[in-house]
Amino acid sequence: MADSMTVLRLAGPAGVKRNLVVMGDGFTAADQGTFNSYVQTALMEGVFGRDYFSEDASAYNIYRINLESVDSGVSQRRWNLQGTPGTGDDTILTDTTRDTALGIIFNAEWSHCWLEYGGNSEARITAAINTWVPDANNVLIVLNEPGFGGCGGGGRAHVTLGVAWDVIAHEFGHGIGGFADEYSAGGAYMGADLGWINVTTVTDRATTRWRQFIDPATPLPTGVGAAANYNQGPRPPGWSSNFDVGLFEGGNTQNTGIYRPVENCRMNGNTPEFCPVCYTSMKTARHAETAHRFDNAYAGNLYGSGRSDVLLHHGASIRFATATQASRTRSAVSRACRARGSSRRTTRCSWVTSTVTASTRWSSSTRAIGSCRIWVSSSRTAAAACGSSRDTTATFPAGAALPATTASTSPTSTATAETTSSSSTGTTGR
Ligand SMILES: [Zn+2]
Repeated sequence: MADSMTVLRLAGPAGVKRNLVVMGDGFTAADQGTFNSYVQTALMEGVFGRDYFSEDASAYNIYRINLESVDSGVSQRRWNLQGTPGTGDDTILTDTTRDTALGIIFNAEWSHCWLEYGGNSEARITAAINTWVPDANNVLIVLNEPGFGGCGGGGRAHVTLGVAWDVIAHEFGHGIGGFADEYSAGGAYMGADLGWINVTTVTDRATTRWRQFIDPATPLPTGVGAAANYNQGPRPPGWSSNFDVGLFEGGNTQNTGIYRPVENCRMNGNTPEFCPVCYTSMKTARHAETAHRFDNAYAGNLYGSGRSDVLLHHGASIRFATATQASRTRSAVSRACRARGSSRRTTRCSWVTSTVTASTRWSSSTRAIGSCRIWVSSSRTAAAACGSSRDTTATFPAGAALPATTASTSPTSTATAETTSSSSTGTTGR
């Protein structure tokens, strides 16, 4: 056998899709089945079978590069941490070198990002990409190593066989999303705000980075103290640790002095979905590549139930989701609405309270609300955005079909152009 490349998912031409490459290190010819099985289970089914990545799978081409290593398993390094939190005084205790395709070294230390490149790693990774997928945008590297480890940033993510899909999804948050960690591992952040997407030192309601997601009634900061959850006043009933946004102290691996958007985002606990701030950033950056297009999206109390419904005009069809079918759609829309005004039912969001019957849903009153935009995916997930404000995801209950009918009249299209930006930054985390 020899090195080879397999297309696992082809969503479209390389030039218009995100090209994700997965390759392994420390896998011999005999180990390739192990590598392939891990990629299938953890990446294709685990990551791309869930929430955001399932929803935006149409943005991603996925290529598997099989690289054969001489030795099985990767090189090992053990550090003497000197009992100090910093790494500057650390010294190498032992090195065990193995002859592998990429020469990556597993070190088993969180403070050393679990793994590090050997002297030839960068050149070998670049060579593999140039040989097999020169249009690669993002790279996932899997180490043949049973210990726990994940490290991501700068468009790349690295994991061991010892971790499951959720760590890959977290590392993609670094490698693809450019997000900082939202977890706390100790210490106090003393520096300036460096403009991260999903952590901040700014606690002023008018200027904090994700202010458009914060309900005016939510106290700021919302959680105070080391790795705090909601502790400034009574936690509102139904408050979601994953989706409801405020300012919670602890993040960027520090306990205090810096704030994260929600109690528990994927950038904190791996398994939860991306929080509204991370989700929206990823969604916005990838929107053009998904090729999801809606001519118009309306939200309002269209059936008069007192709760928000969602109506989508997509090509010649109308999709209509009632609040009773999609209770979480209501919260997504409500939050998008609140993001634009001082309260949920401001004049700018008056459409939320207007009652329009099903038979009059194409009336002028509904067309007037066309500045809002809703993303809906085949995985029953919706995201709402109003104007420049963006909001979070909502999932329709399983089995709740969205009825599609043919539009007899077409409203004035107010589809807004999405800004697209590549979000591979230098943010590194583990
Ligand atoms: Zn987040």
